[in-house]
Amino acid sequence: MAVYIQVLCPDCNSDDVVLYGKNNNGKQRLLCRNNECSRKTFQLDYTYNAYKPGVKQQIVDMAMNGSGTRDTGRVLNVSKDTVTAVLKKQKNFPNKSTKAISNNLILVKK
Ligand SMILES: [Zn+2]
Repeated sequence: MAVYIQVLCPDCNSDDVVLYGKNNNGKQRLLCRNNECSRKTFQLDYTYNAYKPGVKQQIVDMAMNGSGTRDTGRVLNVSKDTVTAVLKKQKNFPNKSTKAISNNLILVKK
């Protein structure tokens, strides 16, 4: 079974993450493009903040309906920090959320 997940940087929660080849043992590496982040590259294994495509839009929808970040995170099963990161990004780039979702989708075979 193959699923698509969206990967966030484990350090800064940025979703400005791109595929960055594979390391010696075949694990997918990713590159964080946030200039203020000190991590730069990380392995897919380390991405505990991954969530399914569409969740970002749900976060935004729930926020618009007045849900708090804690409630939103609980309902969607993502961390409060992830909700905050998504909403912060949304405010800065209101028209780019859909594009951002497709930037860093990772195909994972299960
Ligand atoms: Zn980062």
